[in-house]
Amino acid sequence: MRLAAKSPRFALQVFDGERPKTAPARKERYEADPFGELGAAAKVKGLKQRFADRVLVMTTEKCFVNCRHCTRQGIFGKSRIVETDADLERCIGYVKAHPEVRDVLLSGGDILTLPDAKVMKFVKAFAALEQVEVVRVCTRAVCANPLRVTARLARALGRTRKVWVNTQFNCADELTAEAREAAARLVEAGVPVSCQTVLLKGVNDSAEEMLRLFRALTAARIRPYYVFMCDPIPGIDRFRVSLSKARAIERKCAESIGGLALPRFVMDLPGARRKVPICER
Ligand code: SF4
Repeated sequence: MRLAAKSPRFALQVFDGERPKTAPARKERYEADPFGELGAAAKVKGLKQRFADRVLVMTTEKCFVNCRHCTRQGIFGKSRIVETDADLERCIGYVKAHPEVRDVLLSGGDILTLPDAKVMKFVKAFAALEQVEVVRVCTRAVCANPLRVTARLARALGRTRKVWVNTQFNCADELTAEAREAAARLVEAGVPVSCQTVLLKGVNDSAEEMLRLFRALTAARIRPYYVFMCDPIPGIDRFRVSLSKARAIERKCAESIGGLALPRFVMDLPGARRKVPICER
């Protein structure tokens, strides 16, 4: 039976760890835009919404690194970003018209590739809305360009009292002295830092590597938040870890470390209304 490309069952086939044998089969199985960010999720120019309480604002298409596992690798260059004041006003208008939105993710691309003035313009625009409780600055700079996280920028973010930084580390070796100092600048300025990790074959696909990472993160006062299965996108089969192996890693981690340091292991299923814990599948 052929399943609709965006159905959760379709996505689960991708997560079962088996690699289709032929190129056409792979093409059918994976999608460049699995979460419809060029389609139904695009609400106004530069703003996407997949879940009721949060929206994602595309601030740029530039990044400090081009991650092989990036969900958006297939849509960079096609996705529309917020370029003008009028675009930003339309995004703000959308949020105001949807009072259930309380969490705004400033992403892209990586917002910290923009100059401070532009970063703060985005941050302040959304932090000023009473309904918005959280403004997430989504950036790999803490890991990939830690000197970009200056004390001055950290203080400006902290002053809003609404900013959380979401970053990504995939192995403990990425927590260099510079990265730890960048995290400390944020935390000491009142900005909580959380980490999303991607489960990658040959990089961190063992309980030992994951525990080393979670311990290094918490020592740096970065909260391990999610571990994601690779998204159903083309070109990352070599990094894909099977669900059964992922569950075994999660179980071993849960038996070895306290809740503060233990993230949720989840998968992002096209069409699902939440991030789905892997233990439920
Ligand atoms: S930093 Fe984030 S947005 Fe940029 S390529 Fe990596 S995963 Fe994608």
